[in-house]
Amino acid sequence: MRPVPTAPAGAPAPFDVERIRREFPILGQQVRGKPLVYLDNAATAQKPERVIDAEARFYREINANVHRGVHLLSERATQAYEDVREKVRRFLNAPSAKEVIFTRGTTESLNLVAQTFGRQRVGEGDEILVTEMEHHSNIVPWQMLAQERKARLVVAPVDDAGVLRLDELERRLGPRTRILAVTHVSNALGTVNPIARICELARARGVPVVVDGAQGVPHRPVDVRALGCDFYAFSAHKLYGPTGVGVLWGKREHLEAMPPWQGGGDMILSVTFEKTTFNELPYKLEAGTPNIAGVVAMGAAIDWLASIDLAGALAHEHDLLAYGTELLSRIPGIRLVGTAPEKEGVLSFLLGDVHPHDIGTVLDREGVAIRTGHHCAQPLMIRYAIPATARASLAIYNRRSELEALAAGLEKVRRMFA
Ligand code: PMP
Repeated sequence: MRPVPTAPAGAPAPFDVERIRREFPILGQQVRGKPLVYLDNAATAQKPERVIDAEARFYREINANVHRGVHLLSERATQAYEDVREKVRRFLNAPSAKEVIFTRGTTESLNLVAQTFGRQRVGEGDEILVTEMEHHSNIVPWQMLAQERKARLVVAPVDDAGVLRLDELERRLGPRTRILAVTHVSNALGTVNPIARICELARARGVPVVVDGAQGVPHRPVDVRALGCDFYAFSAHKLYGPTGVGVLWGKREHLEAMPPWQGGGDMILSVTFEKTTFNELPYKLEAGTPNIAGVVAMGAAIDWLASIDLAGALAHEHDLLAYGTELLSRIPGIRLVGTAPEKEGVLSFLLGDVHPHDIGTVLDREGVAIRTGHHCAQPLMIRYAIPATARASLAIYNRRSELEALAAGLEKVRRMFA
């Protein structure tokens, strides 16, 4: 008999999609009488039992406010909350946990940078550089800042495949560029941007780089030191964690120099009617009672990812992307939007003249959940002269058979609208 291979002590068992799926209670349900095929992960990912439990356990056993109490529960809540700061630091390979700011999510993180760091740096006639593939949350805060400061928003284009034109980006890094804001991975195209290279180009000109990591962290290990960026923002809910919580990581020197953002409890050292002195990092940037249970559950999501064979999981996801691309490419009339060589987990497409909303509605009747619309990237839709796309987006718990269900559903759409 062949010996059963055993994993070394402490190492996670090799990735097995069926085992992972069993950890996600929602995935077992039927919708519209069909097994749920959840392919809307770029909008939000489902949560494993461990994350759901962590949030419930916090309320059942620990709930108290943080940082203010001398009583035991408050101490425990503070400890649980602050432990997550260190988990996030490790997760991003950041130099210090003081550089980890808890926010409501990517959107809030980006607004925070724009309204503090941005306001300090950007003046009349200056430029803020973004790319054509940004999510609205990495456009609008900069546009608002530009308007306030009489500065200009400058846009680096993408090519027909959805690859960022680095040569054009470099040409736009001019003497007035004060900030470069760029996404790690495009939610609408799946394109992975070469952040380390982009940061090199920007650094050579003294331009700080703000990275929208909403679609980065769920699909690849992130090391902010290796990337060389100045800020990195993400949301827990796309990372198998809860909604309403996320992170802004920033280089300490920037965070130290930044003014506070919102005023309120926790961000102060002392307050009189004459003068307020502000707390140190990270509390200076965390006014008011935070989403404590959410932060704790985000920590559980990070722990969960560390407990599985993540390399195997991400390899599985890449296999799904290749398989899905192949299946869709075989369907007559399909046009894939976003065919960059470096991609993560997104299949954006059009099918003949069928409106994406009709595609989504027919697929929904088959139990297949995808997203249709502009994906909060309207300027990108304008770039491709399309109003919307249908988008299937992947997570590590998806199966090949789910992509087959997607393809079968699309064949149905094709026959209905032929
Ligand atoms: N950037 C990208 C690339 C995204 O995909 C999203 C979410 N769709 C966001 C930013 C905004 O994230 P949130 O809504 O969680 O703040």
